[in-house]
Amino acid sequence: MGDLSGYKGAALRLLEGAGAAVGDVLEVRTAWGAVTGTLVPRYLYGDGEHVVLKLKSGYNVGLSLEDISEVRVSAKGEKPSFSPPPPPESPEGLPRVLVIGTGGTIASRIDYRTGAVRPAVTSDELRSLVPELSQVARVDPEIMFDIMSENIAPSHWTKLARRVARAVGEEVDGVVITHGTDTLGYTAAALSFALAGVPIPVVLVGAQRSPDRPSSDAPLNLIAAVSVAATANFSGVYVAMHLNESDDRIAIHRGTRVRKNHTSRRDAFESVDVPLAAVWGRGGLEHVAEGLPPRGREFEPSVRFDEGAALLKFYPSMPGALVRAARRSGAKVIIMEGTGLGHVSEEVAKELKSFIRSGGMACMTSQCIRGRTDLSVYDTGRDLIHMGVLQLGDMLPETALAKAMWVLGTGARGEKARKLMAEDLAGETTARTFPG
Ligand code: ASP
Repeated sequence: MGDLSGYKGAALRLLEGAGAAVGDVLEVRTAWGAVTGTLVPRYLYGDGEHVVLKLKSGYNVGLSLEDISEVRVSAKGEKPSFSPPPPPESPEGLPRVLVIGTGGTIASRIDYRTGAVRPAVTSDELRSLVPELSQVARVDPEIMFDIMSENIAPSHWTKLARRVARAVGEEVDGVVITHGTDTLGYTAAALSFALAGVPIPVVLVGAQRSPDRPSSDAPLNLIAAVSVAATANFSGVYVAMHLNESDDRIAIHRGTRVRKNHTSRRDAFESVDVPLAAVWGRGGLEHVAEGLPPRGREFEPSVRFDEGAALLKFYPSMPGALVRAARRSGAKVIIMEGTGLGHVSEEVAKELKSFIRSGGMACMTSQCIRGRTDLSVYDTGRDLIHMGVLQLGDMLPETALAKAMWVLGTGARGEKARKLMAEDLAGETTARTFPG
């Protein structure tokens, strides 16, 4: 029997019956037409109800068994295999960078002949796949997790923060964390709080396209991240991703002010309402913003997070019951993404009021992304202020959520927690939005 990695249940039986194996080209008849593509393995979490084909276009399509009437093998493929070339040696005397792997697209590989997806790039593969890294720094790769970033949770933030704090003691010059792009902004924000004052650069990096695709942004993002971690004269938590669609410049974003604003473009990440921290070109750092913290600060990590915070986006007709549900699920802090300057309906406001009365903290951010909340302009906003809603100005909603979990993790409650939420601790909020 050929390899059917990851398939289970009815999907496995169907493929076995057709004599199919991963890497074979299949013709699948469905309720809505025939689809031809290469059978790719399923992920760990895949269900037993879908067959996944890689189409000629390079995209994967999941076909539901409900729609499939026939599966035929039209060409046999080979089981994928990959052996990386040996990694090059680093010249003596280069700075030392710890590269922590967590998973995501940047650490995945697709075999185009067979369509198979390898979920992880191992330590040595990393150096052999991007040989330039060895010229920039002595890279110590370490895989901590191998998951898509949708599955990253506060417990992972804690483990990452602990590892970085240890690395500071091990005298590395910088740390790079490779991470899926979907929740990269949340992790960057979380680490900015947990590692506030960190004396070295900590650079999170992802990729929109996997490293083996010709259009991949992974190698350059990674080289820039390692180069910044190794040589920048500033410290703190940053995100390195393509500045634009061309393959020559990388934007270095502040960890608390960055957002994935496009689903697929290589320059999907943007700094919101603040200038970039730096721009990296192939020759090194080309521009560095003023006022970034220098290396070598004193710091005391505070790595605990408490998941008792919820992020709710207001929408017209939002039932107040959703606020109650967040409360019942254990939320001690609710971050609202209100409309415009920070508004919600009367119904939702009423629920927030009773949440606050019962000891909860309700905070307001805006779903506008740019600009800042201002609850003093309209009556509806003033009512929210009176009932005790804390407005967070220009803090990004995702950053506010990570911050709330961190604030709760410190053990702060009541006024102390409120004060921490309102204060600027890691560049997450500015008194006035930067121009332009
Ligand atoms: N869903 C993937 C993740 O965030 C996408 C990526 O890696 O860019 O892990």
